[in-house]
Amino acid sequence: MIRITELRLPISHAPEALEEAILKRLNIQTQDLIQFDVFKRSYDARKNVALAFIYTVDLSVKNEEKLLKQFSNDIHIRPSPDMSYHFVANASQVMSEDFERPVVIGFGPCGIFAALVLAQMGFKPIVLERGKAVRERTQDTWGLWRKNVLNPESNVQFGEGGAGTFSDGKLWSQIKDPKFYGRKVITEFIKAGAPEEIRYVAKPHIGTFRLVGVVERMRQEIIELGGEIRFSQKVIGFDIQKDQIAGVKIEGYPDLSANHVVLALGHSARDTFEVLHAAGVYMEAKPFSVGFRIEHPQSLIDRARLGPHAGNELIGAADYKLVHHAKNGRAVYSFCMCPGGTVVAATSEPNRVVTNGMSQYSRNERNANAGIVVGITPEDYPGGPLAGIEFQRALESKAYELGGSTYEAPGQLVGDFLAGKASTEFGSVIPSYKPGVHLTDLADALPPYAIEAIREAIPAFEKQIKGFSIKDAVLTGIETRTSSPLRITRGSNFQSLNIKGLYPAGEGAGYAGGILSAGVDGIKVAEAIALDYLSK
Ligand code: FAD
Repeated sequence: MIRITELRLPISHAPEALEEAILKRLNIQTQDLIQFDVFKRSYDARKNVALAFIYTVDLSVKNEEKLLKQFSNDIHIRPSPDMSYHFVANASQVMSEDFERPVVIGFGPCGIFAALVLAQMGFKPIVLERGKAVRERTQDTWGLWRKNVLNPESNVQFGEGGAGTFSDGKLWSQIKDPKFYGRKVITEFIKAGAPEEIRYVAKPHIGTFRLVGVVERMRQEIIELGGEIRFSQKVIGFDIQKDQIAGVKIEGYPDLSANHVVLALGHSARDTFEVLHAAGVYMEAKPFSVGFRIEHPQSLIDRARLGPHAGNELIGAADYKLVHHAKNGRAVYSFCMCPGGTVVAATSEPNRVVTNGMSQYSRNERNANAGIVVGITPEDYPGGPLAGIEFQRALESKAYELGGSTYEAPGQLVGDFLAGKASTEFGSVIPSYKPGVHLTDLADALPPYAIEAIREAIPAFEKQIKGFSIKDAVLTGIETRTSSPLRITRGSNFQSLNIKGLYPAGEGAGYAGGILSAGVDGIKVAEAIALDYLSK
């Protein structure tokens, strides 16, 4: 296969124009081109140039070697890398009478991919998920958003699909991925019903409603391959014998013995982290970030980012990514930006308020939202591996109080926040957070260094996005679940540093940040488990 990069076409080009561009670029005839696929499509929407799609295509041609030789000095025409996925093992190599099935705790993206790949290799995993199946879970999640009622075991964080189910479903990541595991994740999502375009658009996203069906179909495949998925089964204890995992305790169910256990818990499994810590599993505190969600009209972001191209349906709603290094040494950055989306209530614990963002595939809601968060380190919350959790809890409880103790979130207009006075009424931006935003002064919602850094960053961001600091933009508090506050450290064999057979994985263990990277980590852990079975 040959890969051509930087093929540029006007954004409204006819479908056949791409093939014509390939033929022209390679100077070949139609009959020489056997087949082609778009590997990536991004767009160039700079204000002063004509709007264009930029393609990377993979293709097969007659006389491939000859053609590659002919273009050997052209950096945009190269052999395509092999991105196909190859399984590292097959369970039939190890299956015996006393084969103990691997157990995966958690059915978010990490657990889904760990279980799927184990199942595809024939290892028949058992998945234990504390939350409910995705459709029932959706009802419970709406319970908080519409009726101010939280179910601590079935919510935005817990349940089939994990934390990213009610999200923007952004599927890109900056992880190094030399083995193209990300491609496997995307391919499986498409197989399960995600739109084909996620294979090639530069910043793919699925959106909430589609994710629900995708997750259900992946569950179905795991079951058809002999796996088992048990909902409403919370792991509450670990049987560790001589530094080797021997099984898990499940609330209200018989113990389950297992010598390969994946901890795909997500960053909100605070009670389970406490149990693991008490059981002596090695973990350490790690940096994370705290801040607010900010909402602007999407049209403002589109105009600032796309200028005359704003509103072009072929490009869609514009996004942004911002960073500011504040004078007090803190980095402030935008997090999980959701174009045309809504701010959502994302707590999993009673009497606490946490924000996050989501959108539908169409991204056509009125507001753009993003976390504006400040990096903090274990020096800000000394006290050991679990201290970050207490730090988060204190902020989330304070936000609950500031919001009026009803699960409404505390909010403030940007103009008032910068001027240091409480807000009393909304302006032109109506916040989207459900069950509602309670206007107040957010100055006490975060530590003073974070408030100071955000007050400096917002006007600085105005220089990159005109209108970013408009007085009517709304800040909603608070953002604390940006990543895990701890790492359950593992060795090069993907097992816990001090407990054999325990595989910390995904975002909760500190090895991923986002849907794609959590899925990739799940694949890596599935492979490590398969290789461990093989080595026995
Ligand atoms: P999780 O998805 O958190 O899954 C962990 C699972 O483990 C949960 O289902 C939980 O119920 C289960 N569990 C925990 N403890 C136990 C136990 N003791 N017993 C049994 N089960 C247990 N990322 C993106 O890349 N793009 C986005 O657009 C995006 N938007 C987001 C929007 C929202 C509202 C949220 C909350 C997150 C978003 N994220 C997004 C982040 C993304 O969801 C996470 O990075 C990802 O889900 C992490 O995957 P994971 O499998 O490691 O953990």
